[in-house]
Amino acid sequence: MLVGERGPVPALIIDAYGGLAITTGGEVHDRLLAGFATLGFEFPDWICREGEGADPVDEKDCTPGLTALLEGDEVRLLHDGRELYRLGKLRYFPRWYRATNRGALVVMIGRNLQGMTFDSLEYIQRAAKSKELVQAVAAISRIPTAPADRCYCINGKVRTFASCCDSADGPEE
Ligand SMILES: [Zn+2]
Repeated sequence: MLVGERGPVPALIIDAYGGLAITTGGEVHDRLLAGFATLGFEFPDWICREGEGADPVDEKDCTPGLTALLEGDEVRLLHDGRELYRLGKLRYFPRWYRATNRGALVVMIGRNLQGMTFDSLEYIQRAAKSKELVQAVAAISRIPTAPADRCYCINGKVRTFASCCDSADGPEE
């Protein structure tokens, strides 16, 4: 998560190498990221995490036209209503879900991020340094899961939505 003026803002990081590339041949990498740049994505020089001097982020920073819709374990990323990505089988912590209450979602799309984890930003920072990563802030909205349904988060197999991500007293992880 990145830190924001009103608390932590969740991030969604997409590895656009392998499977998600939308063109073949030639300048594939540049074309894809440049395309996102025309939609308001920026090339950050450095990515920080909470407590490491991250720039404040909140819903005021949302990129015009960019929205994210979270339903269950799926996120749809849209620009002016046109779908850019549909990401299924999302794995997130309950605290990540609750942080979407802030109304803002940092979206990073980068290359060669297959080694990334929550604990290390090494791959992400390397991609940013080599201009192989773009970033924007999407206004996020959620479609809640039914209260009695199994939660879609990482630990959702043993928890209902009402006792997990939809509960302020629910688990952190
Ligand atoms: Zn949950």
